[in-house]
Amino acid sequence: MAQPFILGVDLDGVVGDHTRRFRDIMADIRGVDPESLPLERSWDFAEWDLDLDQYSAYHHQAVMDYDMLATMPVLDGAADTLWRLSNAGVWIRIITHRLYVNWSHAKAITDTATWLDRHSIPYRDLCFVGDKPEVQANAYVDDAPHNIVRLRDAGNMVIVFDQPYNRDLAGPRAHSWAELEEIVMAAVAEHSGQFAAQLPGIDPSSDRLPTASPPPQTPSGDLTLRQLQHVIERTYGTRDAERGVAASIAWLAEEFGELAQAIRKGTADDVEHEFSDVVAWVVTLANQTGIDLTKALERYRSGCPKCQASPCRCPST
Ligand SMILES: [Mg+2]
Repeated sequence: MAQPFILGVDLDGVVGDHTRRFRDIMADIRGVDPESLPLERSWDFAEWDLDLDQYSAYHHQAVMDYDMLATMPVLDGAADTLWRLSNAGVWIRIITHRLYVNWSHAKAITDTATWLDRHSIPYRDLCFVGDKPEVQANAYVDDAPHNIVRLRDAGNMVIVFDQPYNRDLAGPRAHSWAELEEIVMAAVAEHSGQFAAQLPGIDPSSDRLPTASPPPQTPSGDLTLRQLQHVIERTYGTRDAERGVAASIAWLAEEFGELAQAIRKGTADDVEHEFSDVVAWVVTLANQTGIDLTKALERYRSGCPKCQASPCRCPST
């Protein structure tokens, strides 16, 4: 069997919109308008009046207090494109330099894995590296000038993911994930000779590869409440946001009615079905109102939230 084509994918500035999230956090910390911190920035953040020490301090605060690594927006098309590449046989090796500081490795790793999962970003390997960028990939995509130069000096193919601070570097350069997909598939074709020159998945009318949303990552084992919240968010989040809380309450009320009816005169299957609908709408409402149900239900962990006993010892009312 042919060796798979391994694509080394950097996270910050390539998959995640690091500049935007860090700007919003910085603006909050400094109490200024985010617009006052330009997104067109140099690698050293000179436009934001930051020196290296200040950058390190703010970065630490952003990761620890603002969960920056778990809350970064994903750049347009990144997840869908990675799924298409993965489905086409490309081995996705995520490479992140998020351990370049000596503190909070546990948080950096946990938040990164959570973030990848939440945004359904596919990968086969996840490499946390310090300052050695090379991880034996056939091609790399990175935005950081020093990584790009060092990888190229070592003889690697590196696609520059276009950012204001890397515009002086030679191509290949991708200005978007659509362009990146095109460049990668051409490199894959050259590598294996297996892929057509007309690249699948680029043309929206192409039916040779699925262009729909990535396959959902189905939690295995018993479904936890937290997993359920994530699944409901991923499945209905956009529609729920459009519909609003009031409409969800109306739906929940309707489902309660159906549950009541099923218990009164339905079969066991009907009751089970209606319970799942009621719980799903409760979860939707929790998502819409920003409630972590797992945390909320901690009150009940050891029994009655009032008397703390199980069975409850409160006087009957
Ligand atoms: Mg980067």
